[in-house]
Amino acid sequence: MRILAAFVLASVAAGAQSPRGIPVMLLDGESGGRYHDWQHVTPALKKMLDETGLFTVTVVTAPATTGELTGFDPHFANYRAVVMNYDAPQERWPAALKSSFETYMTGGGGLVAVHAADNAFAGWSAFNEMVGVGGWRDRREDAGPFWFYRDGKLTSDSSPGSAGSHGRRTPFLVTVRDATHPIMRGLPPMWMHQGDELYARLRGPGKNMTVLATAFSDPANRGSGRDEPQLLALQYGKGRVFHTTMGHDIVALSSVDFVVTLQRGTEWAATGAVTQKVPAGFPTAQTVSYRSDLAALDPDYPNGLDNLDLPVPKR
Ligand code: ZN
Repeated sequence: MRILAAFVLASVAAGAQSPRGIPVMLLDGESGGRYHDWQHVTPALKKMLDETGLFTVTVVTAPATTGELTGFDPHFANYRAVVMNYDAPQERWPAALKSSFETYMTGGGGLVAVHAADNAFAGWSAFNEMVGVGGWRDRREDAGPFWFYRDGKLTSDSSPGSAGSHGRRTPFLVTVRDATHPIMRGLPPMWMHQGDELYARLRGPGKNMTVLATAFSDPANRGSGRDEPQLLALQYGKGRVFHTTMGHDIVALSSVDFVVTLQRGTEWAATGAVTQKVPAGFPTAQTVSYRSDLAALDPDYPNGLDNLDLPVPKR
């Protein structure tokens, strides 16, 4: 056994990644528009992953292009999880790149989809299976039904209609639906999330999907009137997916619950287990809780946090 352990250690040390942490790729390079400021979001995501001491995070930026990406091979197999701060149309990735990602996931890879990552690749059926539900980019009923909670149960609705909506950014209450999942163990049954877009009316295949937490989408704020999935865990082949619909911008992802669920969700996607303790200062059902050190990474932070949904200032 000692020889085997030494061999495993030597193999890890010989790899391209640091032997100290679980190798994680943070993929960025494109979004649907300026409202998703991936350039500033990536350092905030990296900071929260780095501070766990668990991961060795490599930022991989897909080259900017208007056509099909060619010659881009991020070597998925070098990583235990891919965190996507990335949203591109389905034609962006050539078939070989899609196939390589499917092989990686089927064989036991990890995917963490953050917010608008679930807008990406609308017509790529394997990707839609990985994230379970998605919105925008012309997803309609052929993407799959709407998924939501009703009477304490995951429910679907195949009615026609476009996928994806949200109202004004406000703080909202999150309700845990699976307290036994490793990502959720030890979290309070309900908490307030910092001002963010509450994604609603998402559609998708919903296969092998566990809804970890929902939030009520208020019709008074252009909502669906349903308890909408916010945090999801999925199985894709031998791979694991953690999908958080939260995290529109740095204000939103500085919310302590976003930080904690991203850290735990990434560990789970990479390893199947969560070893992290829930930190003090987690929000309660009455109070939001956010990290000023993360919020300060937003170039607009000096203008205050009360500018939610004002026009994006020119930079
Ligand atoms: Zn958004």
